[in-house]
Amino acid sequence: MKVITRFAPSPTGYIHIGNVRSAIYPYLLARQNHGKLILRIEDTDRERFVEGATELIEDTLKWLGLDWDEGPIVGGSHGPYFQSERKSIYHQWAQKLIASGRAYADPTPSEVIEKYHKECNEKKMPFLFRNIRPENPPEWKPGIPLRFKTEPKSYTWYDEVMGKMTTGPEVLDDIILIKKDGFPTYNFAHIVDDTEMGVTHVMRGVEYLSSTPNYLAIYEALNITPPKLVSLPHILAPQGNKKLGKRDGAKSVTEYRAEGILAEAMLNYLACLGWNDGTEQEIYTKEELINKFSLERIQNSGARYDEIKLLWLNGQWIRKIVHEDGVSALYRRTESFWPESAKGYDDQYKIRVLSIIYDRLKTLSDLRTMTEYFFSDPKINLTMLTQNKFLQKFSESELENLLKLTISKLSELEKWEANNLQNTLNELLVITGKKPAELFSLIRIALSYAPFSPALNLTLEVLGRETSLARLNLTARSI
Ligand code: GLU
Repeated sequence: MKVITRFAPSPTGYIHIGNVRSAIYPYLLARQNHGKLILRIEDTDRERFVEGATELIEDTLKWLGLDWDEGPIVGGSHGPYFQSERKSIYHQWAQKLIASGRAYADPTPSEVIEKYHKECNEKKMPFLFRNIRPENPPEWKPGIPLRFKTEPKSYTWYDEVMGKMTTGPEVLDDIILIKKDGFPTYNFAHIVDDTEMGVTHVMRGVEYLSSTPNYLAIYEALNITPPKLVSLPHILAPQGNKKLGKRDGAKSVTEYRAEGILAEAMLNYLACLGWNDGTEQEIYTKEELINKFSLERIQNSGARYDEIKLLWLNGQWIRKIVHEDGVSALYRRTESFWPESAKGYDDQYKIRVLSIIYDRLKTLSDLRTMTEYFFSDPKINLTMLTQNKFLQKFSESELENLLKLTISKLSELEKWEANNLQNTLNELLVITGKKPAELFSLIRIALSYAPFSPALNLTLEVLGRETSLARLNLTARSI
């Protein structure tokens, strides 16, 4: 059996990290089994539809390296891949159910439904439309909702993640198949599409688990063997026991991308949010994930979202790229992340800055705040010197003298190069009798007025002789 999976997002404009995880697992399963991944756009809810949202989804998948075999852009033999263009297909399938007496037009006015809803609430009874099912429904035509005529009974099925599930007849209802506007509901459309597209594994959020018996009833009425069902665990908020929502500080994938989270790190993090291979490994390439992924190791309880872990992983990936492919490989991804002041500086200089600072970056956008002083002179802020924990014990004239000595020693250097600079710095420690934390903090602050900077000799080397000496002089004169 060829594995066919699908990712079926709704184009609502906001790409929650849970949505993306629902794309990663089907992708991994399809690639591992040399199967197919289908991208299907579930755009029948016209009220939630957002212009440009489909392009955003496509772009996000491409960014993450999740290519699809059938769907928008690439085409395929099971199209169209936008549900809004498949109306006639749903209507054909609806006719099958009507013909077998398993679907009926429902002219019940909404007030009647609301009244019954209220009554159920008051009496604490479950709302089941089938209890007020119209006795003599009219013939179905567009403009009237079409409902499934259920036959209440128990269902037992196997969910690849949740295990054996059993439900009683009380969960089955006459769910709507086609809405008044002629568009199908998710409940009906996904069954038709998954069947027509030959999907073998339906992988989606566990929130669809409670509706599964109703889906099974429809499969049965249509004489279709359901695909394998794979419920993906909820992603939980960092605190408490609730689902991760927008208010819990989780950004959309689009925002993370704009902040300089690398695609590899995002993929790695989300793949491991609810799945593990049973080892301690934390860094996975896409290829490793494809090899190691297994349905059996998807966890059946909620997975806690941890942004600190994502940032940590991103830092690991930043280093990994430099170590494996060189600093230029990382540089190619940094274009939009440099501070405004870096405009006009050539690639070579920026690559040098990157090469001494990359191992401190958590996100690429840290470049914006951490490298400013490589491109423009910092504003002198003497309190940073006088209140520094290593420097506060020195008088202003001591600081000035230390700087002057540093300037004169550094000026003697013939070749302004990291090793020579380090030797001079060491020499200065011997001459002044100061500790590295003392002397080096002073020099570091005078050069950058930033909370931290890379190794001092490297910072000096990249800034260059002229800039470094000018900045040290300026501070010496300002004290
Ligand atoms: N369109 C649904 C959603 O975005 C997809 C659910 C599914 O994968 O079947 O939640």
